[in-house]
Amino acid sequence: KKIIITIDGWSSCGKSTVARQLAKELNYVYIDSGAMYRAITLYFLRNHIDWTDIREVREALSNIQLDFRFNEQSQQSEIFLNDENVEYVIRDLVIAEKVSEIAAIREVREYAVKQQQAMGKKKGIVMDGRDIGTVVFPDAELKIFMTADNAVRVERRFKELYAKNPNITIEEVKNNLEMRDYIDSNREVSPLRQAADALVLDNSNLTMEEQLNKALDWVSVKIR
Ligand code: C5P
Repeated sequence: KKIIITIDGWSSCGKSTVARQLAKELNYVYIDSGAMYRAITLYFLRNHIDWTDIREVREALSNIQLDFRFNEQSQQSEIFLNDENVEYVIRDLVIAEKVSEIAAIREVREYAVKQQQAMGKKKGIVMDGRDIGTVVFPDAELKIFMTADNAVRVERRFKELYAKNPNITIEEVKNNLEMRDYIDSNREVSPLRQAADALVLDNSNLTMEEQLNKALDWVSVKIR
């Protein structure tokens, strides 16, 4: 039996790492919902969209085509914005600075959630984000909520970003994570919440293998 697995949580908790491994192990499809909000943000910035103007937002969304394509080389699915692979450029701090503001817009969420729900029609998926277990798939068979100590999260994200841009500072990364968590959990439309039936995975002191095994145990109960 194939199920839907949702993984929500704070920024930079290691959601995507667990989600990707879990999907690989189960032969499921992994979908990074955050990549969709990041790609929309990239489009808005490049095209100087005034996102405080709802007509401009609607017009812009009608010109955006997003899809995930599996890359044989990297062995992972990557996001395409109007046929351009933007998987790597959307990880930039410039995008992270604006994404939460844009993801809080009702029309933007409606646009993304509709596509996410369509991807769940087939089951056998692991999707990570902020509102996947609460809004996108409220009936998902397995919901995981991830947390990790702030220091662990900042350190992890800093290492990732520093590898690409040595000018980045720990302060910038810390401020960005705090700002995103604040906006994500306080916005009016589908704020970040732990679903009532979610299982909590705190990975501050767990190795990748321990996290994966824990998640796999939960899965085995659900697919029985
Ligand atoms: O997961 P990631 O950190 O790449 O997500 C980037 C941003 O996209 C989040 O900080 C949040 O503002 C937004 N997001 C969201 N809902 C999701 C996934 C991401 O609002 N399901």
